[in-house]
Amino acid sequence: MRKTKIVCTLGPASERPDVLRQLIDAGTDIFRLNMSHASHRSVRDVVPRIRALAKEAHRPVAILLDTQGPAIRTGELKADLHLKQGDTLELTVADAKSEEPYSVDVNYDGFIDDVSVGDTVLVDNGLIRLMAIEKGEKRIRCKVIIPGTLGSRRHINLPGVHVNLPPLTEKDIADISLGAELDVDFVALSFVREKSDLDQLRRALAEKKSKALIIAKIEDQLAVGAITEMIEGADAIMIARGDLAIECPMEELPIIQRRIVKSCIRLGKPVIVATQLLESMITNPLPTRAEITDVANAVFEQADAIMLSAETSLGRYPVECVRVLDRIALRIERSGGAGYAAEAILEDDRQKTVASAVALANSLERAKLVVFTRHGTMARNVSNIRPENAPIFGFTSSERVYRQLSILWGVYPVRINFADDPNATIEVAEKFLRQHNLTVAGDQLVIISDIRVGDERIDSVQLRAAK
Ligand code: PEP
Repeated sequence: MRKTKIVCTLGPASERPDVLRQLIDAGTDIFRLNMSHASHRSVRDVVPRIRALAKEAHRPVAILLDTQGPAIRTGELKADLHLKQGDTLELTVADAKSEEPYSVDVNYDGFIDDVSVGDTVLVDNGLIRLMAIEKGEKRIRCKVIIPGTLGSRRHINLPGVHVNLPPLTEKDIADISLGAELDVDFVALSFVREKSDLDQLRRALAEKKSKALIIAKIEDQLAVGAITEMIEGADAIMIARGDLAIECPMEELPIIQRRIVKSCIRLGKPVIVATQLLESMITNPLPTRAEITDVANAVFEQADAIMLSAETSLGRYPVECVRVLDRIALRIERSGGAGYAAEAILEDDRQKTVASAVALANSLERAKLVVFTRHGTMARNVSNIRPENAPIFGFTSSERVYRQLSILWGVYPVRINFADDPNATIEVAEKFLRQHNLTVAGDQLVIISDIRVGDERIDSVQLRAAK
């Protein structure tokens, strides 16, 4: 049983029912809809398809809607611009006319106010580097520092600049409404800069009666600097290494990744390591040695999940990519982990109870952790302690929680009806595990559930032998 979860981004390479089925069979735990590219029509088509296939496979596959967020882009060009070092490129707003031989419009009018002379402007994933040298009312003249060919609608990054775009654009709001209507399980907020951005998304979801969990995408220096409040304000974190490596000095990336994984485990929130894990497999059937080692590192750090982007949305080998992640994760998990959970903060009595259950499971040869969870919190607490060997069976009565448990490290979600009497519920769970060959007689079940004491229900840890 793999502990590290796998997120796959959907796209033309993976939306066909036969490919979706193979991706689920290969071990996909969460499908990601990237709203920078996906149309509402394709989302409406694919969500019910995933739900039906997951049901057929008896798997709790979850769906993550990833917003585009406040992205700045260049506009349309009649022809590509072949920029040389030292050339001048004028960036204009509001369709202002330019006298320069090289110019392009930008989709955000506040661009002129936010950028100062001397700032770096990166275009097309950092491939073209510009420096702002002169500002006008509706234009900024930039010098080309690293040359390249500029096409239409390229992404702009402004490292270290506070961009005053609202955290949720009109497009994001429309996409979130669609997600709420289709009952997606997670919504990711791109380019989150401060905790209030997350609060705004939470209000928008509540207005639309969505119970989706919020994932904060950490993509720039501002978010990295405010990481503790980001973790506290979100339900999970995504280390969006694509933009991070443009917005921050590239050599900082491994340090930032490790710091964020550590902080998430310390504060008890799930974390996804994203982007370019198997980039070469977009066109090749096998990963590079460096990619194998990068995946192994994320698994060793005990991130909750690892994410594929273009590998599964556009690549030639989407199913093979999931199989490769599965193989590497299973092997590396057997070799041990970084052990950051030793620093997990145990604030309340429930977390302390869970920690004692995990310590008990770690001391036994054939332990299996069994946790009953209505909202997913107790299962998250158990997962966050990163038990050494015991699998975690997370039993819930909620269909939504069943799917949302998909993100948690080491948790095998099971949906059952809860009886009024906690003991009867435990018996149903034991029977389920036995019937599905998940336990054999003599296994040591470390059970975390509530029990009745008079009229009260209290948390308990029990050790029972599986029948
Ligand atoms: C990233 O930048 O790594 C990322 C996941 O964001 P997106 O693919 O949405 O740009």
